[in-house]
Parts: sequence; structure tokens; C-alpha cells
Amino acid sequence: MAKSTETAHLETNFFGDVCEFFDHAAQFTSHPEGLLDQIRSCNSVYRFRFPIRRGNGFEVIDAWRVEHSHHKSPTKGGIRYSDMVNEDEVMALAALMSYKCAIVNVPFGGAKGGIKINPKNYTVAELENITRRYTVELIKKNFIGPGIDVPAPDYGSGEREMSWIADTYQTMNPGQLDALGCVTGKPLALHGIAGRREATGRGVAISIRECVDVAEDMIKLGLTPGLDGKKVIVQGLGNVGYHSAKYLIEFGATVVGFCEYEGAIYNENGLDLDDVFNHRKSTGSILGFSGAQVEFTNSSEGLEQLCDILVPAALENQITEHNIGNIKAKIIAEGANGPTTPAAAAAFIERGCIIIPDMYCNAGGVTVSYFEWLKNLSHVAFGRMDKRYEETANRNLVNMVEKTTGVTLDSVQRNLIIKGATELELVNSGLEDTMIRSYHEIREIKMNNPKIDSLRTAAFVSSIDKIAVSYMNMGIWP
Ligand code: NAD
Repeated sequence: MAKSTETAHLETNFFGDVCEFFDHAAQFTSHPEGLLDQIRSCNSVYRFRFPIRRGNGFEVIDAWRVEHSHHKSPTKGGIRYSDMVNEDEVMALAALMSYKCAIVNVPFGGAKGGIKINPKNYTVAELENITRRYTVELIKKNFIGPGIDVPAPDYGSGEREMSWIADTYQTMNPGQLDALGCVTGKPLALHGIAGRREATGRGVAISIRECVDVAEDMIKLGLTPGLDGKKVIVQGLGNVGYHSAKYLIEFGATVVGFCEYEGAIYNENGLDLDDVFNHRKSTGSILGFSGAQVEFTNSSEGLEQLCDILVPAALENQITEHNIGNIKAKIIAEGANGPTTPAAAAAFIERGCIIIPDMYCNAGGVTVSYFEWLKNLSHVAFGRMDKRYEETANRNLVNMVEKTTGVTLDSVQRNLIIKGATELELVNSGLEDTMIRSYHEIREIKMNNPKIDSLRTAAFVSSIDKIAVSYMNMGIWP
């Protein structure tokens, strides 16, 4: 089986875990083994090393870019900056990107990048140097480009790093009209898109809202339908964790716990997100927060406190066979990639609980990255052509209705009806529609086959089928 031969030399088994989930789901499809093998395997694994000048000497940096599947072009996936990153992890994350894009109908193959550094140990100038050199290495081997492979932010990277990548690519490809489509998650000033920064977390919150709104499923869990008053614990106060918490609170949930690597805090009545965030920013730690009833220096204890929903939004392998027995949540929403191991997932599902799988749950980021890429290729912001036109048409309609009915709207009502959509509103509308439709698509696959045990298996079935169709349309398989 591909998983054992491809990962035999690697130190961890994250790619093996993804393959295990894949193989479990593949039995519910009818594709030939050769085609399944092609879908499961990583097409291109580029491992490279480059030197940077540091202090009075040099340091050699390990880096990767993996393109998992070329059934669609370009390939797409974030770049992880972490001293724990390794080839197995990048392969696993690239594979998850292929399945994720297929689930939410984003026309990309999957990819991922990794730079083995702890960004906290480097100056901004060194980080810029590393990022630009990494980009040059990708350009040299044709591993980046708007129609080839398009990176994005991931753990440890953000808008700043994406702007360095865009600038380096543009500089080395003068006159290439679509050059800025070589990377997404850029700042707005460099042709990024409104709403990308918060997209993954917003998508996570929408996925949870969709899940808890299904009364039939909540009754089976012994929960009331709807997000109102649901107690949530979030692991990771980075991009995904912060925004997941923000929108969950906006949708009516109460965040009772936060876990960071230095510890965890809990208050059964709820914690104020921004107060916690600012406390950590000013003191450097989540611990010592005055609004907490209890705190834990062992961060993983925080995951085991009383709540309805657990949102791991930090790293993989956080919920394993060792702690799953202590998890009290009835729903795990995987904001991070790969936070639950196959053994832990099986035990949780066995208890009748629900996992909203990473490959769907955190797909909001790539969905809005797709919108950013479209914006870069079309060279025009969403709403620019039609916002005023829409407003004029709406104003004419309101004037006519007021005239014929004799009813006069006040200025607030008028503005609400007349206003044309901004880029942010269009992006959020596209994101929400994608997350809602995809959730029900996956759930329906599960409901239609009683042997399919989980939303993850259903999500894999959905993506395997879609990727298989792409290969068949290429004429590679009959
Ligand atoms: P980030 O770097 O912004 O934040 C991660 C946070 O997790 C940091 O605050 C870090 O201190 C914390 N953390 C690290 N180890 C921890 C531990 N053991 N316990 C508790 N907290 C810990 O990264 P991010 O962009 O929010 O990504 C988080 C996860 O979401 C990753 O798995 C990533 O692959 C996934 N993801 C990110 C995006 C995106 O758009 N950024 C999209 C899809 C998936």
C-alpha cells in the first residue's frame, strides 16, 4: 500500500494517518485500485536546503514544497514556518489540500510548503531573507506561479510573508501580467482580498453552526439544536483559533476555555476573547488572566474540561488515544489540520459523537484564497463594476414603490435596500454559501449510506469521487 512505502523513511506518520482515513473511505467507492493509488500518492516532493547569512556566519535552512495532486492546475496550499516541520507533515498537509479543494469545489490540486525554522528566533530582516530565498528556490524549479502552484499562509506565516513572496516572484518575472496571482493571503495593499485574514475561522464557525442546526443530529447527542449558549473550548489563539472564537461568539456560543502551548484557562460562564488576547499580548502568556476561574500549566488538561464543542486550532496530533477518553465535548470541530489521530477519531465516533473533519471544517481559507486568485487574474476588485449600477437600480425601484404606495421609508431603511454589495460582503456571501452547501453535501452522503460511520469518511468519499472524475475526464482512466 502506498502509505507504507512512501512514508517508511520518515520520522512521523501524519501522511500515513491521512492515507488510513483515505483507505477506509475508498471501500465505499467503486474506483480501480490503480486510480485510487494515483489519487492517494504525492506527485512531486521537492526537498531543498539553502544557506542564509546569520551573525558572522551562515545557517543552512531545510525546506519543502510538495504538490500532491495535479488533477487540476494550479496546485494550492500554505507554507508552514515551524521548527517541527518535516517531510511527512508537508506531504500529509498537501494531500489534505487536494481533498479539501475537491470538497468545496475549488478548482485546484493540493500542495503544501514547509520551512524548518521557529520564526520567533529570527529578526524580521532574517525572515524576509529566508522567505525571499525560499521563493527563488521555488521559481528555479518551476514550483510556483499563478498557473503552476500558488502558496498561502499557514502555521507561523501570514500576510507579511505572502507580500515578500509576491514581490520576489514579480521581480523575477517582469512583465508577467498575472504575477500577483502567484500567492494568496496577501495584504489588501498588494492586491489581497477583503475577508481573507478571517476566512478560515469564519468558515470554522459556519461549519459548526450548520452542524448544530440539524435538530435530528443534536437530539441524538443529547444537545439542543442551535449555537445559542453552547459551550466551546478553543485550542490555539492564532489566526484560525482567534477568528473561530470571534465568529462563534457572534453566532451565540460561549467560549469557556482557551488552550495555548504555555497553558490553558477556563471559566464556565465564558471568557472575553479580546481581553484574553490582549492579556497574552502584553504578558506573553495566557496564564494569569484575571477572568479565569481555573488555569492549567499543562495545556492539554484544558482540552478535557466541560464543554459541548472542542475546536482544536493549533497543530496535528493533539487528540490521541491517550486523551480521547477524557474529552467531554460531544463535537470536535477540526480548525487545525490533522488534530485527531485515526484511533482517537474511531473511539470518539464509537461514542456517537461528531467530528467536523479538517478537510471540510477549515476549508474557508482556501475558498477565499480562490476568490483572491480570481481577483488577481481578472485585475479588478469584486463589486467594482456593478456596485453603483446596483445602487442606482435599487434607488429607482424604491422611488417608484414609494410614489405608487405613498409609503415613505426613513433613511436607514432606504440605505439598507439601496446599498450595493462591497467586496467584503461578496466574499463573505461566497464563503458562507460554500460552507453551507458543502456541509449538507457531506452529511447527505453519510445519511445515504448507513455503513459510512462519520462525516470524515463521507467527506473523503466526496473528494475521491470528484478527483476520480477529473482523472477520467483527462482520459487517463477509462
Ligand atoms: P498560527 O500560527 O496563526 O496560530 C497557531 C497558534 O497555535 C499559535 O498561537 C500557537 O502558539 C498555538 N499553539 C501551538 N502549539 C500549541 C499547542 N500544543 N497547544 C496549544 N496551542 C498551540 O497558525 P494558524 O494559521 O492559525 O494555523 C493553525 C492550524 O490551522 C494549522 O493546523 C494550520 O494548518 C490550519 N489551517 C490554517 C489556515 C489559515 O488560513 N491560516 C487554513 C487552514 C488550516
